[in-house]
Amino acid sequence: MSNTPSLENYWMPFTANRQFKAAPRLLAAAKGMYYTDVDGAQVLDGTAGLWCVNAGHGRQKIADAVARQLMTMDYAPSFQMGHPIVFDFAQKLAARAPGGQEAGLTKVFFTGSGSESVDTALKIAIAYQRSIGQGTRTRVIGRERGYHGVGFGGISVGGLVNNRRVFPLLPGVDHLRHTHDAVRNSFVKGLPEHGGDLAEDLERLVALHGAETIAAVIVEPVAGSTGVLLPPKGYLERLRAISKKHGILLIFDEVITGFGRLGTPFAVDYFGVVPDLVTTAKGLTNGALPMGAVFASEAVYEAMMNGPESQIELFHGYTYSGHPAACAAGLATLEVYEEEGLLTRAADVADHWQDAMHGLKGLPNIVDIRTIGLVAGIELSSRPDAAGARGYDIFVDCFNKGLLVRVTGDTIALSPPLIVEREQIDIMASMLGEAIK
Ligand code: PMP
Repeated sequence: MSNTPSLENYWMPFTANRQFKAAPRLLAAAKGMYYTDVDGAQVLDGTAGLWCVNAGHGRQKIADAVARQLMTMDYAPSFQMGHPIVFDFAQKLAARAPGGQEAGLTKVFFTGSGSESVDTALKIAIAYQRSIGQGTRTRVIGRERGYHGVGFGGISVGGLVNNRRVFPLLPGVDHLRHTHDAVRNSFVKGLPEHGGDLAEDLERLVALHGAETIAAVIVEPVAGSTGVLLPPKGYLERLRAISKKHGILLIFDEVITGFGRLGTPFAVDYFGVVPDLVTTAKGLTNGALPMGAVFASEAVYEAMMNGPESQIELFHGYTYSGHPAACAAGLATLEVYEEEGLLTRAADVADHWQDAMHGLKGLPNIVDIRTIGLVAGIELSSRPDAAGARGYDIFVDCFNKGLLVRVTGDTIALSPPLIVEREQIDIMASMLGEAIK
């Protein structure tokens, strides 16, 4: 008999509600690479939860650190005061900042999630511009098909059309044309050769609005949640050059790409392109507790704190900014990452992973396969009658076979924990292949 409890009075996030109600799948436990559902079936985690459990589930060290911290001091406000663990964590992160010390992204601001990190980075960017006497720079540029969470900042700069239709948005936001057409149908391993010049679209927006109105441009170095879109060669470099030329801050949203996903600690390291601000969350605490962090350059921090207009009090901070238990989780996570070399482990298995994923080429309805680090996007053609239905069917079939994948529309996204073994990669590819067939 199934252990499925009554769901009558339970609210799921409304985007997931209908599909969940149609076929409830309830996970009850997790260890290492596996979930166990309420009926005791094992499900191989092909998505590191939601791109966050990079070191695998149920890490003793992280659990112990959190429990210890909760009993030492469960909570302390971080306004007008501090506590050692938050400084310790900030310092350790700064020492491992995106791009290394030369990149200078060594100022850390803590948030409670990726969405909060995005809002924070947008506010810092606008405040920075004001603090250097550029108060007219209040616009922000996002990218079509970008995803930056579900705060009003995130949905405004993000490119998910459905969200943008439903809610009022921040004023003064515009979008770079997306890179999807350039990378689709490429079936290439690695970055698309062509399409780097799409970054020139920033020049179009500068000409349209005037550089003096634009505070920042925000992009995911690799777009995850909207279908694993890889930047064409040269794209990020040109975005950096153009934004710099016009005094526009560049924000990399590394909520997904941060903490080892690409085989380097951050995407900044992978691409060798240094932005002014980096947003992170997810892998920061291995998914154990909600937390995000924004890395800012010294220049941005200095101007905000000591610039000519820095006297304007910028009120920003969350109840859970620098939460002691989340800091403990983050510190223990960093230790685990370093002891096991996880921040670069994806690079060791990337060839095996990418061969396995590209080996699915030729199966029915696949129109593209995109891989980078320990990420894959398998794009299927949409059914003419129902976009997303094919992806959803494969999600269900994989789950029933014992593999958790993520679907965004008709693209299957995979991003296993960085501890994944080669044999497990082969099992994933084989289950996924069966499901697609
Ligand atoms: N930015 C990016 C790039 C993301 O992928 C996500 C979450 N998938 C977010 C922001 C939002 O993070 P959260 O759900 O923690 O608010």
